[in-house]
Amino acid sequence: MISKNSIDSGTNLYCILGHPIEHSFSPIIYNSWFKDFNLNKIYLAFDVAPKNLKNTVIGFKAIKVGGFNITIPHKEKIIKYIDEIDSTAKKIGAVNTVKNEDGFFKGTNTDAIGAENALKENGFTINDKNVVILGSGGAAKAISSILVKRAKKIILINRTISRATNLAKEIKKKFRTNIEAKINSKHNLEEEIKSADILINTTPVGMYPLVNKSPILREFLHPNLFVFDIVYNPPLTQLLKDASGIGCKTLGGLDMLVNQAALAFEWWTNKKPKIELMKNKIREFLVKN
Ligand code: NAP
Repeated sequence: MISKNSIDSGTNLYCILGHPIEHSFSPIIYNSWFKDFNLNKIYLAFDVAPKNLKNTVIGFKAIKVGGFNITIPHKEKIIKYIDEIDSTAKKIGAVNTVKNEDGFFKGTNTDAIGAENALKENGFTINDKNVVILGSGGAAKAISSILVKRAKKIILINRTISRATNLAKEIKKKFRTNIEAKINSKHNLEEEIKSADILINTTPVGMYPLVNKSPILREFLHPNLFVFDIVYNPPLTQLLKDASGIGCKTLGGLDMLVNQAALAFEWWTNKKPKIELMKNKIREFLVKN
């Protein structure tokens, strides 16, 4: 006998596109929330190489995907393949969430507010602080957009200097922020971190499977530094271990992840999911696996 399954011909597909993607917790988060609200929706993760991004989006339109998230390395390139981006995504220059509105793909970015909410929930302030950001990709753009009006000074340190310089120029032009770009070298890391109050890692260094790597040497850290590593898998990265080992206050990427996902979920479904409960569920999942 055929029994009615929870997935049927009316199930609406949501997903995440990234490359790599096996580190993603998004399917766990969204499928759990879909279940909580009894929604006939399913969420999958797709590993899409950059050369296949355009065709993937075209295919998504054809099969009426309800919405999707975009992660490393597609957050900036996706813009040219969707129909419209809102003012937040325009300000940041990167998209992490797309919604299908009657066949029209609309993009936004929930990373900045997700990061801001995570910092607030953990009692951290960025007002008048000297901030060093490692990386200059999509997440660095989003995070800079919340720092611009409040930080005293921002230093972007990146492997590819042109990317950091362009981002710094863009931010300076838009917001007149005190921001500088530097190439990722031992000398620059050591010098800039000495006078920094906050260090934010937005590079994937330390992310699964390269879990023993840290983007900076332990000896460059100092106890007055607040270290925010936005990598969420593993939740306790090598950088966070090194930092808390010498007495720094730290925050991992899980809080930002769940906060940015909650904002995307609400945009797609008009429903407010439980954030704290989800953070605990992921922590439990990680202990078991
Ligand atoms: P992205 O746009 O591809 O940018 C990655 C940045 O990291 C670039 O500046 C890149 O430098 C740098 N980078 C990459 N590999 C490096 C290496 N081996 N050494 C030094 N620098 C390196 O990616 P993204 O979307 O910003 O995401 C970056 C990370 O943040 C990922 O791990 C992602 O999972 C995480 N993330 C977490 C959250 C959260 O909610 N917690 C949200 C967004 C992103 P080049 O310019 O030289 O290539």
